[in-house]
Amino acid sequence: MENQINISYGTSAFLGLKEELTSKQYSSIFVLVDSNTKDHCLDRFLSFCSIEVTAVLKMAAGEENKNLTTCQKLWEDLSFQGADRNSVLINLGGGVVTDLGGFVACTFKRGIDFYNIPTTLLAMVDASVGGKTGIDLGALKNQIGIIREPQRVIVESGWLETLSQEELKSGFAEMLKHGLIANPDYWNTLRTLVEISPEKLTDYIKPSIAEKTKVVLEDPYEKGLRKILNFGHTLGHAIESFYLTQTEKPRLLHGEAIAIGMVLESYLATHCSGLGKSAAVEIKETFDKFYSKVNITTEDRVSILNLLRHDKKNKAGRINFVLLKAIGEPDIDVEVPQELFGKAFEFYRS
Ligand code: NAD
Repeated sequence: MENQINISYGTSAFLGLKEELTSKQYSSIFVLVDSNTKDHCLDRFLSFCSIEVTAVLKMAAGEENKNLTTCQKLWEDLSFQGADRNSVLINLGGGVVTDLGGFVACTFKRGIDFYNIPTTLLAMVDASVGGKTGIDLGALKNQIGIIREPQRVIVESGWLETLSQEELKSGFAEMLKHGLIANPDYWNTLRTLVEISPEKLTDYIKPSIAEKTKVVLEDPYEKGLRKILNFGHTLGHAIESFYLTQTEKPRLLHGEAIAIGMVLESYLATHCSGLGKSAAVEIKETFDKFYSKVNITTEDRVSILNLLRHDKKNKAGRINFVLLKAIGEPDIDVEVPQELFGKAFEFYRS
């Protein structure tokens, strides 16, 4: 991967995008939307950018569609519409569209250029930046994928106006994570916010992206430092995978699952990486303030812990965690004794 991440901000960036697409002389331009971004974002995008689009490709919204079946349909659509190696794909949507669209672009004819235009908070501060593209394998998250940066990411907070409060909170969890792993001042600012709304969050998007890009530029392929971005994700992904399979239980969004993961892993950190108990309590109280408590039964826990063996950070069968030594100071590759998991869930529930 090139050691460069191109990000532009604000509505004026769309004029730049138009010029860039023109100067690159793409043979055809495709835009990928899901069923919601087609309704809420496509017209606005086309009016900002005023480019001639070859075709708009559509996928059904939702994590359950981030799979090979959707990819196959999109590869066929591209092929049918005459896409060649000099075509470009613009992903207009949340993390599902940018992850899957990026993967489709990276694999179509061994790779065509793609652009990300994130339309959810989560995709702005996290998913669309850093080059991780991919799809799920059954309920197992992000098992198949490629790391490659988009040509450019365009971040424009106006999209957040049509986003639900739950989706905003889902993205906010990743912003809190950036504070916890890298910037205590940022954490303190975010945790004391009284309201999560597009207006209140707009100013904090850029600093969050800055924390992520700093890490990714230093370690694009996750050999070491980049692992810190997985704080909360070891248990969080297992929880997200578990709830994806539970149709009778309430739906859990990515950030909501990661929020639970961060509380659980903060407890583990008090035993395994020296995080102070008061810091763990501060973290738990912050997440309690912003997120409703999920009732994870003892039976659920067993299934969640079974899913841990699929975590991509595992090496030779060992489950490796990213934990905190203190707020702003992560520790990677920490092994955790299994007997602590039950207590971590009790801490979350308390
Ligand atoms: P999402 O893409 O499913 O979007 C959430 C919902 O909001 C969807 O229903 C979508 O259609 C809708 N939506 C999108 N933009 C909208 C808008 N402006 N107005 C109204 N509705 C809109 O999910 P997400 O939370 O954006 O992203 C989650 C995904 O991101 C997960 O698959 C996760 O694994 C992935 N992710 C990837 C990375 C990475 O580094 N690649 C990092 C974090 C998360």
